[in-house]
Amino acid sequence: MDPAFARPGRFWKGNLHTHSDRSDGARSPEAVCATYREAGYDFLALTDHFWAKYGFPIVDTRPFRTRGFTTLLGAELHAPATALGEIWHLLALGLPLDFAPTAPEETGPALARRALEAGAFLAIPHPGWYGLTAEDAATIPGAHAVEVYNHTSHLRTERGDGVYLADQLLAGGRRLGLLAVDDAHFKSPDAFGGWVMVKAEANEPEPLLEALKAGAYYATQGPLIHDIAWGEEAVEVVCSPALAVMVLGRGSRAEQSVAPGQTRARLPIAALKPGGYARVVVADAAGRRAWSNPVFF
Ligand SMILES: [Zn+2]
Repeated sequence: MDPAFARPGRFWKGNLHTHSDRSDGARSPEAVCATYREAGYDFLALTDHFWAKYGFPIVDTRPFRTRGFTTLLGAELHAPATALGEIWHLLALGLPLDFAPTAPEETGPALARRALEAGAFLAIPHPGWYGLTAEDAATIPGAHAVEVYNHTSHLRTERGDGVYLADQLLAGGRRLGLLAVDDAHFKSPDAFGGWVMVKAEANEPEPLLEALKAGAYYATQGPLIHDIAWGEEAVEVVCSPALAVMVLGRGSRAEQSVAPGQTRARLPIAALKPGGYARVVVADAAGRRAWSNPVFF
């Protein structure tokens, strides 16, 4: 079963990848938190670049929590080097405020291990933006998730897609979740293009982090997924009005229902099961998508 629809609690809307003027964003942490709170988000992770030139910030956003709005502490971590020779980007949430600065000799995989040992939820951000490969991802074995959509990467470079990497990793037996984020910097209109809906008992940091680690969420650019029920022979999806509802698996395995305005779909899964995993995508008439996490057979 997909824990996002099997567990108790309710869905909370949050952005997991965001920048402020503590690194290369345009607004103060307080203003960024207020922006998401006023836009109806339940929570935000401010994830400034953990670089020496910014003083290795883990921004303390606790003062900006209000009734009905909370924050996760985190950062975007950096160290050498991917297969293409670029600096790694790693999204870490739930970091302690005293997480030690990156050591000069520390590599991306070593930094990832240290973040995981500190209790973080760790994700591979915007793989398409910098040409990350499945071989790169294999060096980060503990990662909990991959960004399948990064709005800023999409707007600025047309490389916001991470679905290709998620499917390669899932086909290779990795068990990861799928995130959508906006990665806003507020130098241009770049907020609110992608977010997650996390199922938890309470809108508080610990339950949210536990739910993220358990995969109890889905990612979206707008469409809502109200329910996904995985049966022996079919998956049943209840969603906001959609043009297409799809179930996707290893390689080209896929089933879909295309009908304008549909809010329910029942899709057979027999052909997907031998591939080892399946996941649901809901697309609306404007082309916006929502992605469930995978289930495994
Ligand atoms: Zn970023």
